[in-house]
Amino acid sequence: MKKYLFFYILLILFLFYTDGFYTYLYYEREEIVEDFGEFRISKYPYNYDSVFLVTVDDISYYTDPDKLKVFLEYLKEKNVNPTLFVIPYHANEKITDNTEVIEILKEYDVEVAQHGYKHIEKEFKSRSYEEQIEMIKKGKEILEKDFEIYGFRSPGFYHNFGTSKALRDLGFSYESEMSVFDNFYIHYLLQLPHTRNGRVFMTHSLDPDIYIPKNAWSPKMKDFADWWKFRKDLIVNYSMAGNELYIFLSDYKEGLKITLKKDYRVHIVVREKELEYEREGDTIIL
Ligand SMILES: [Zn+2]
Repeated sequence: MKKYLFFYILLILFLFYTDGFYTYLYYEREEIVEDFGEFRISKYPYNYDSVFLVTVDDISYYTDPDKLKVFLEYLKEKNVNPTLFVIPYHANEKITDNTEVIEILKEYDVEVAQHGYKHIEKEFKSRSYEEQIEMIKKGKEILEKDFEIYGFRSPGFYHNFGTSKALRDLGFSYESEMSVFDNFYIHYLLQLPHTRNGRVFMTHSLDPDIYIPKNAWSPKMKDFADWWKFRKDLIVNYSMAGNELYIFLSDYKEGLKITLKKDYRVHIVVREKELEYEREGDTIIL
């Protein structure tokens, strides 16, 4: 027993270090508020208490348009905005040549993100930055004929430092590799989902058979990336004079929710400008 103690400790430390691992196994309700004593600020917008991102991989020229339509209709009814990871050039066919699929993607206004280039075996594994930037660029150009592209996921999640660096240099907003190692913070670009930041439903199938949690926000990944960057960088200060509470924010986005501890008269100031807001009891939503 004693002999292996060192290895056990090492193993436990490793598991803690890569705690993103647990996020994918369990749906943990995370710490969702920041407490400033007199008031609290929620991590998510409006009255949502978690986030639930739906992503579908391997949409390509060969995707069945009828199935795709049924699937997207189901999600629309449930108020879920999916992100579809699309293969630009699968088995010698460009996605853009399947006009039926393209029209459906546009009709439902879903987010199209990039899924590799040709989706061949271990496509980005062991490739240099230079090779990857070329491949990603070619794929992006195909998709950009019809869509604005913000996100990327490697086929089979085979990626390396060069991938993230290439994506950053090509102007992507986020990468979504779903790797336990993404918790090492070694990336050049925002990784989604961020650890402890909710739950991702990842599928390859177009069966409309998804359990959707209650009171979860289901935005497109690009909107979530924008929100997360905003929330992460938000600086909050406040001061009080009698019953007047001044809250100073470095920035704001629609939906930011503030909960008051007492019935103050509240002034929200963003970069020296006072904001108008709606208030319901102790809750303010910007
Ligand atoms: Zn794939």
